Amino acid sequence: MRGVLREVKTVKARNCVARISLIILVLVTAIPVVGSGAESVRRPKGIILFIGDGMGINQLRSAAIYSRQILNKPLVIDSIGTIGMTTTFSADSEITDSAAASTALYSGHKVNNGVINILPDGRQVFNIGHAAKKAGFSVGVISTTRLTHATPAALYSRSPHRDDENFIADQLPEFEPDVAMAGGLAYFIPRTREGSKRKDDKDLIEVMKSKGYRYVTSGSDLKAVDPSATRKLLGLFALSHMAYELDRVNVPELANQPDLASMTMVALSILERNPRGFFLMVEAGRIDHACHGHDIKASIYDTLALDEAVRRVLEHQKTHADVLVLVTADHETGGLGLGTGTEYTLDIAALRPIKNSLEYLHRRILKQPGDLDSILKSGGFDLNDKERALVSKYAPGQSPDAVPELSAYKEKIKQYVFSWIHYALGLIESDRARIGWTGFVHTAQPVVTYAVGPGEEEFSGYYDNTDIAKKMAKLLGLILDPPASDSKKAP
Ligand SMILES: [Zn+2]
Repeated sequence: MRGVLREVKTVKARNCVARISLIILVLVTAIPVVGSGAESVRRPKGIILFIGDGMGINQLRSAAIYSRQILNKPLVIDSIGTIGMTTTFSADSEITDSAAASTALYSGHKVNNGVINILPDGRQVFNIGHAAKKAGFSVGVISTTRLTHATPAALYSRSPHRDDENFIADQLPEFEPDVAMAGGLAYFIPRTREGSKRKDDKDLIEVMKSKGYRYVTSGSDLKAVDPSATRKLLGLFALSHMAYELDRVNVPELANQPDLASMTMVALSILERNPRGFFLMVEAGRIDHACHGHDIKASIYDTLALDEAVRRVLEHQKTHADVLVLVTADHETGGLGLGTGTEYTLDIAALRPIKNSLEYLHRRILKQPGDLDSILKSGGFDLNDKERALVSKYAPGQSPDAVPELSAYKEKIKQYVFSWIHYALGLIESDRARIGWTGFVHTAQPVVTYAVGPGEEEFSGYYDNTDIAKKMAKLLGLILDPPASDSKKAP
């Protein structure tokens, strides 16, 4: 009897195992597979590539500590199980700039710093954006910087000089991404229009509209977009870069710019309607700017905005399992160190009262130097005596290259630090949090790449930024054509 019972149980268990195996088989085969046998991997229908510009491991860690200590929640990015380390050097430097880094991330080729999608020998590269378009995929590009800034620009343009932003803007209607959202309106409107940075009368907004784009300029505009009825979307939400997240949430005039998560979700709803597949790049572009100016609080808030966008996408992934989500950085900025001096202390929570970016405070103070104290107080800088003595050392608007402490950096320092008050507040903020910076530029530090979704296993290990383009292309079944010959040399 016992033997029979055992037999029955075993048969039941076998049936159960078989049924579970069948369910697993159905689930697994619902997602296409690349390769064969032991090497086969699940293949995504679409990839969302999040790039934190300048987001090294310590930019993430400081945001995680702030989030845990002040907001009582962990960083969602930290929950992603598959991670890799990524090297970022460019063709001509161990320290990459954003143009060379994003070219590598999208195309798999190293170029010189400052160059977008053109090899040192002059040949033009063919990247994942071009390959996706050619294969009939939908393509989206989102950034909190100007749309013509290096990281978004490298997806849709080629330029020997990243600073030639009019030339880059001209290439947007040629490429025709399905969705493009960022700042940078100044490069898309004719020179006669207020705030324009163009040297001609081209109106690229009109050109885009004539190509069927729905055009939006604010967060409320974006909310009104029905993704199911929108095929092509262009959003330009500021003349130059969009606001730092810290200012967007605290300055009423900036509150109508959309946050990164809203832009991402609208783009995703439009792009994923394409049955062929899609590629979406989402850049939190201003972590880099904050760190160039030694503004840890602004860096933390822009990193948290990126984390929120990732959270929304991972939520969406629960019902759309065919999307691969990647989070990486193009490089680290500033050489951020979490700890200074001789004490084992880090006080990220001390940043809690600070309500504005240093760049915003610098602009306000330069406009109204007489209101220095009240502006600082409203921005969360209630100065102690030592801090007040530091701030009063020079005039707030003193050019940084004329500050003796910074004179060694000559003219170049003005690209990163805009005035004495900007620099002094950075010192105060960093000192309060007990953090430090090795410089004002990018560093050679490898960055972390996170992956979740079909094909995620490809992204574990130690690899170069060029490998990310190759891995993404392989998973999407796209071919990154070899660079075009010299006959197609860029101007
Ligand atoms: Zn960058």
